[in-house]
Order: sequence, then structure tokens, then C-alpha cells
Amino acid sequence: MEHNKNFREMDDHMIVGIDLGTTNSLIAYFTEEGPKIIPNRLGKNLTPSVVSVDEEGNVYVGETARERMSLYPDSVAQTFKRSMGTEREYILSGKHFRPEELSSMVLRSLKEDAEVYLGEEVTEAVISVPAYFDDKRRKATKRAGELAGLKVERMISEPTAAAVAYGLYDKTKDTRFLVFDLGGGTFDVSILELYHNILEVRAVAGDNYLGGEDFTEVMAKLFLQKAKMTLQSLTEKEQVRLYRQAEKAKYATSESDKITMSFLYHEETIEQQITHREYEEACEELLMKIREPVKKSLSDAGLKLGDIDEVILIGGATRLSIVRDFLIRLFRKFPDTKLNPDETVALGAAVQAAMKERREEVKEVILTDVCSFTLGTEVVVEYEEGKFEDGRFCPIIERNTVIPASHTERLFTVRDNQEKVRVRVLQGESRFARNNLFLGELEIEIPKGPKGRESVDVTYTYDINSLLEVEVTVVSTGVSRKMIIKGQENQMTEEEVKKRMEELAYLKIQPRDYEENRLVLLRAERMYEEALGDRRRKLDHYITAFEAALKRGDHDEIMDARDELNEILEEEDE
Ligand code: AMP
Repeated sequence: MEHNKNFREMDDHMIVGIDLGTTNSLIAYFTEEGPKIIPNRLGKNLTPSVVSVDEEGNVYVGETARERMSLYPDSVAQTFKRSMGTEREYILSGKHFRPEELSSMVLRSLKEDAEVYLGEEVTEAVISVPAYFDDKRRKATKRAGELAGLKVERMISEPTAAAVAYGLYDKTKDTRFLVFDLGGGTFDVSILELYHNILEVRAVAGDNYLGGEDFTEVMAKLFLQKAKMTLQSLTEKEQVRLYRQAEKAKYATSESDKITMSFLYHEETIEQQITHREYEEACEELLMKIREPVKKSLSDAGLKLGDIDEVILIGGATRLSIVRDFLIRLFRKFPDTKLNPDETVALGAAVQAAMKERREEVKEVILTDVCSFTLGTEVVVEYEEGKFEDGRFCPIIERNTVIPASHTERLFTVRDNQEKVRVRVLQGESRFARNNLFLGELEIEIPKGPKGRESVDVTYTYDINSLLEVEVTVVSTGVSRKMIIKGQENQMTEEEVKKRMEELAYLKIQPRDYEENRLVLLRAERMYEEALGDRRRKLDHYITAFEAALKRGDHDEIMDARDELNEILEEEDE
């Protein structure tokens, strides 16, 4: 195993950058040559964000967990990032988990890989989150880190991380960026502006249910239509296999004008030729859907297409040539793709980690973000002389405001001889206070007097680390009170984190050394189930040989048997 030499002081501790993605996650660190991805135990940069827990409480993460999907579907969870910050529970082999607990298992696996690779303990991370993640979802992400034994003091929004990775940390020219992020199941567009060394997210828009998987589905449907088959006629396992083949065919469309997709159905290989043009036409509707968030983000930022200096592509699905061609036509310029679109965010998070460590190699760029929700307070509105309506919401920091931000609103007394003012702090977009999320409240006494004479200034200051400071000052006396809101209803205290960690202690994290063996066996088992006749017998022969070698425990023999089995699997998994 490669060990990195490091020249930092002993008491310095390493902060890593993590992209905790919907489909895949990555971990990176900062080296003297710049940010670098740390490969996982299988030697790969991407670890699928998939978790499986079996009946005995064994935990599998990444590719191994994904491979268990077709054999033990009830033991596997994926795309749980979508549910972060919600009360949703996942049941794996009869055991209950919250989204942040599943995320923590992915983080733990990444942390372990980094520790072995770097040869030192990793205790702190900068984790990236989508720009639209609200406070609750950010808190859940932080908690996932804590459950994995990682301190998470700073989070970075994904588009900001992407822009930072593209060299922003040493860029001086003012630039407007559009970050186009098309992942497996999500689509985000962000507009950022670098101005006087301050990087600002100006607007975010997106579609939570659009991504590379939709393009796979179009390919699968096109195949079925050409082969005159229906999805309903396939079993669940056959559907999983069809989608796997469709994904491969989708990748191939970027390489050639005409591809052949094949699908093994009842021991018969069905083949269909699909042209690039046909596929592009079938994807027309998806491409149209991409336009909307691009338009919305531009109009929210008050910009036109022509105002954008650089277009950055991130997310695996931006590798699709039909997506790229569409974007070139849309923006009338070539997007910036010098970095691997899967790795950009993690690299940016590692740069941010270096900034936090105050490493000399990186210039500190002040990162800003936009508030993805409105923060305000409850007020009483006088809609006609002497007629009041209470329970109304008064925005103080509006959605899409650049943060850090500080705004003040002056509120007047509504009754004669009112003795105090209560400021209820709320988050949300509704005109009515009751529909918004209650974050906390603050009371302050005021001098008595006729209504409307006394007033208070309510100041909200919201920063990039999601801390909201509320200050209320009585205008006539200058007396003020302040509070800081960190917590939220589903926030766990330190004891709760500890308690939940103890509760989860029954989980057995698999030793990383045997991961590759486990993965090969699972893959072989899955293919055995799918195969029949000669193929099945052949697979059985090599699986048995590999299992026998494992039992005998001779390292060289195991490696040889594994290589042989792997070769057969490659051959058979056309
Ligand atoms: P991400 O969530 O960013 O990891 O993106 C995953 C999505 O990217 C999946 O839908 C993949 O099918 C897609 N993807 C990955 N590599 C490619 C490729 N070479 N060509 C087309 N799509 C790809």
C-alpha cells in the first residue's frame, strides 16, 4: 500500500475533503502539487453511495453493497442522500436506519481508506452539500460525519467546490461561472461570480428528479420498442439486467454513431442497433427539461446567457455527448472540462480543507453562498385602520440572498402600553407564520407607551456555516438581546450521537482486506443466478475452485483462482 510522505508538523492534523454524492462518494486531500483523490480499498476513486446490512449485522459499503442488490434487495439502500434531514427510515434486513446513519457508513468507509492510504488518522473533513440543501439537511450531513468519527466544522456547496477546483483559489480575474451538474438522479445549475477575490453563489436552480438514470431509461425503452418487447413482461431481475445493458449502451453512444445493445433473454441474446440520432431524438424531452433550470438561474441572477464567462460541467452524466452537444448549442461556447466531472467537487472540498488548515499553498478566497430559504419573523399586520391580522410572516433575509448577510427590520408596537416584544424566528416561504419552520424565539421588554411609538430593530445575521444570529434592540433605550441559532428540532446532542453510536455498535464493519474477494464472489453468484446450462456449469466450476482456494488460505493460490474467476466474469458479462 502506498504511503504518502508528509512534511507537516506532527501536531497538524489532516483535514480531508469529501464529496458525499447521491450516486458516488469520493475523498481527497491536498498535496504540494494540488488536490488529489484518494483511491478506495479496491483501488477506485469512486465509492458508490450504497449500503447493505445483512441479517447478522455485517455492513457492506460501495461496490460490494451494490453487487448485493440483485441477490438481496431487502438488505440494500441507495440514493439516501435525497432523504437527508427528513424523518424517513430505511429498513435493511429488518433493522431501521436514518439517512444520516447510512451516510455515516459511507463516510466511515472513506475515512478508513484515507487513513490506510495516508498512514495517519483522519479526524476532520470538509463535506460538500448541494447549494439548495437547507439547514436541516446540512445538519444531518454534519451528524453523519460525527457518527463516522469525523469533525465537520465546514461544509462547502457543491458548485462552489467545483469552481474552487477549477483553480479559483489562485485566480484573480473577475469571472462569472455557470456550474452545470448532471448526476445520476439530480440536476443542479448554479451561477457564481468571482469579484474582487470574493466568490459568490448568485443563484441556484435545479430539478431533483432529472439525471443520468433518465437517459438510461430512455435507452432501455428504445431497445424494448425496437425489439417489440414490454417492460412488464420482464421479471424484476431481468429489468435490472436490461438497465445495466442500457447503461453500457448509453456510454457507447458518446463514442460512435451507431451502437449495438444486446440483452440476454431466456438464454437467447437479443440485439438491436441504435443510432446516435435515434437516441438523441428519444432524449429530446429530457434535453428540453434541462433548459428550464438554466433559464431560471440566469433570470434569478439577473444575467443573460452571454454574460457567462465559463461553463463548468460536473456530474457523471455530463460525459454524454448528446448532453455536451446540447450545451454547446445552448451556450454557444465550449464548456470547461479539463477536470474529471466525477472528481471536481471532491477536489474543491480538499482545497477548502487546505484553506481551513491555512496551508500556504492556497490563497484564502472568501467563499460565500446563497441562503436557499427565507428567514424571517412573525408579525401582526394592520390591514385597515384599527384592524389587525396576526400570524403573518415578515421576511428578513430572503431566499437567494448572498451569505454571509446581515439584514435589519424595524418593528413597531401594535397595542397601547405593550410591555414586551416577542420575536419568533422562522424559516420558509409561506406568507403565514404557521406554515413556516419555527427555529426559536426571543423576548425583550419595552417602555410602555401608545401603540406605534416604541419600536425594535431585529437583525438577522446568517453565515456560511449556517449559524443564524438574531439580535433585537429597543430603539428608544438601546437595550438589546441576542441569540444564536444552531440547533433544530432534529438536531442530536453530543450524548445522543454517542448513544446512537453505541446502539449501532452491533454492526460489524467488514475488514477491508477481503473486500475484493467478497466482491468477486458476489458478482459470480449473481451471474450464476442469471445463467443457465453450460454457462452456469462453467461459472460453478470456477466459483467452487475459488472457494476452495479461500478455504485453504494460501495467498498466491487465492490470487490465481480469483484472477481466473474474474476473467470468466468479464467474458460472460457482455
Ligand atoms: P454521478 O451522480 O455524478 O456519479 O453521475 C452518475 C451518472 O453519470 C449515472 O447516471 C451514469 O450513468 C452517468 N455516467 C457516468 N459515466 C458516464 C459516461 N461515460 N457516459 C455517460 N454517462 C455516464
